[in-house]
Amino acid sequence: MTNQELLDLFQEMGVLQTGHFKLTSGRHSAQYMQCATLFEHPLLAAQVIQELLPRLPESIDIVVAPAIGGINAGYELARALGCRFIFAERQDGVMTLRRGFNLSPTEDVLVVEDVVTTGGSVREVLEIVHDAGCKIQGVAAIVDRSGGNVDFGVPFASLMSVDIETYNPTECPLCLNKVPITKPGSRSS
Ligand code: ZN
Repeated sequence: MTNQELLDLFQEMGVLQTGHFKLTSGRHSAQYMQCATLFEHPLLAAQVIQELLPRLPESIDIVVAPAIGGINAGYELARALGCRFIFAERQDGVMTLRRGFNLSPTEDVLVVEDVVTTGGSVREVLEIVHDAGCKIQGVAAIVDRSGGNVDFGVPFASLMSVDIETYNPTECPLCLNKVPITKPGSRSS
């Protein structure tokens, strides 16, 4: 799959939506990313995840993902790699391994997230992995929305970079053109 084919597929599936959106921040945008939509279709998701494989570091024993966003992507990637998979989740606001999940210091780890924006959740997982004494091979995401601004200190692979411009409502070109506005999550049709 080329970048354009991936982008077309994402638009077709509603992963990347086009319209006029009111974001939770109060700002407006012409695009909205809903990565969870990709995993509504497991067979397609598996194909998309396959595309990440050639971009990954070698020697991965285990994939660790932050809940909730990273779980589907991490699980699917671990299945493709034939390795172990666990996820970390917040307990009282702190990212933790629960459910009997554990890491052994001999393991080479890949941290997987669906969308990286600021990379906050990924950093919290990296800290867990680091504290466990594991070797961090890298970080992988389906979409990099950081605009190339994240540095995890380890190799970072993503399927695509998506820059979504946001506007102050008073300066929004879509408002100016009276394009009907929708709240993300709801269908624009
Ligand atoms: Zn607007």
